[in-house]
Amino acid sequence: MKNEWTTLEDVEKDILDCTACPLSETVINKVVRKGSDEPKVLFIGEAPGKNEDDTGVPFCGRAGKILDELIEYMGLESSEWAVINTIKCRPPNNRNPNKKELDCCKPFLTRQIQLLDPNLIVLLGNTAEKAFCSGHKMEWGAVEMLEGKNVLKIFHPAALIYTKSRTEDQHRFLDENRHLWKNE
Ligand code: URA
Repeated sequence: MKNEWTTLEDVEKDILDCTACPLSETVINKVVRKGSDEPKVLFIGEAPGKNEDDTGVPFCGRAGKILDELIEYMGLESSEWAVINTIKCRPPNNRNPNKKELDCCKPFLTRQIQLLDPNLIVLLGNTAEKAFCSGHKMEWGAVEMLEGKNVLKIFHPAALIYTKSRTEDQHRFLDENRHLWKNE
């Protein structure tokens, strides 16, 4: 696999063609990106689930509905955000991606981030943190400057499905940091 792509189109084409790990043998649809190709805010999720594998669209199931609500809460227009995942193929039975899979997909993740070039990266949960931060720990609610970008770590939308208090905490945290994506 080459590790340098000059356009988003190049990297996303190679994602579709990739056979670097065994997940490519069971995948139905690779899941590449949803949203703008010039986002102000880039959300990084975990891995495709069944709905995403069926459609090729990130966050199109139940967790996606919660992500949509979060994006609306943040007041982002459709041109202002995008979402990608740490890995592009569904792990069997929706298990967490393992280190080998994260490492295999990392060049894609890194280059997608560089080419999308957001002002702000929002890590959705622990797997996104593990893949993006390479060993550096960020707790929920952390705000850091990493690789020249503002980075926030928040709960994965799936972690909000049954726990209302987490949504309230998350909203409070987003309110405190609104200046990172709103200029007014
Ligand atoms: N959860 C994720 O982390 N990513 C998706 O695309 C869907 C659900």
